[in-house]
Amino acid sequence: MIFSRTCVFVAAWYYFRMKTLRETIADARARKVAVGHFNVSDSNQFNAIVAAAAELGVPVIIGATEGEQKFFGTHEVAALVRAAREKKGLSVYLNSDHTRTIEGMKAAVDAGFDAVLFDGAKETIEHNIELVKETVAYAKAAGREVLVEGELGYIGSSSQVHADIPEGAGLDMTTPELATRFVQETGVDLLAPSVGNIHGLLKGRAKPALDLPRIEAISKAVGIPMVLHGASGETDADVHGAIERGMGIVHVNTEIRVAYKDAIARGLAENAEDIAPYKYMLPAMEAVKQVVLKKLKVFNGL
Ligand SMILES: [Zn+2]
Repeated sequence: MIFSRTCVFVAAWYYFRMKTLRETIADARARKVAVGHFNVSDSNQFNAIVAAAAELGVPVIIGATEGEQKFFGTHEVAALVRAAREKKGLSVYLNSDHTRTIEGMKAAVDAGFDAVLFDGAKETIEHNIELVKETVAYAKAAGREVLVEGELGYIGSSSQVHADIPEGAGLDMTTPELATRFVQETGVDLLAPSVGNIHGLLKGRAKPALDLPRIEAISKAVGIPMVLHGASGETDADVHGAIERGMGIVHVNTEIRVAYKDAIARGLAENAEDIAPYKYMLPAMEAVKQVVLKKLKVFNGL
């Protein structure tokens, strides 16, 4: 009797608890959808992204690079994620995006991040593997689940509006052979390949198309979920194609930054006499929310 009650209790707990990030990604892959990953520099962007995910009832990953963490606070963004989960019961996860230092990686794991992308894409393959292996070992020793993502192939490094394709970006596209070696030697959970994607937007012109057959070939070779970086400005058709072929997470940063900055300027102009931040910043939060809503609908097939 006591045994069966315990079983019911455990089953109920398992059913109602928040899924781990690994489970959330596996669930997305099984349904051929992707989890949206959006970067934040401050709490206004954070609240706008979380509001969009809550409105649609979908999970979301908040990303913060070392630069964004320096401005926002590594512990501060982790605290907001915890608050969103505990107070609002939302499936919000936190990723240390494009982490390029071992100290930064350790700080994020120690602060409670759910995932770390160690970005050794500009290093030699050997050094990249070495750095990612060190990240995997540190994440494993954390005593809780921390996913590690590795990046292969340089796709540019800044979420800005570029006049032209950044030098070297997208030239060394990831091959299934190199990806297999990288995944086997590092033991990563997630792979960010170079498949025609480039960080940022291009001024006055469309971005290059994604190499969908390459995504499919790499996905089949590595057998782990992949992450599409630089999805700002990509067509919905390309993003759908990429999700269908193996992308479990899709990153957007630049489109949020553009919407945020433009709307801050608008909010200041429209509230010239008002000094209350919660009035002149509102249009900026709403603009971010609208971008995220649009993207989440595409990623989740809604
Ligand atoms: Zn990225």
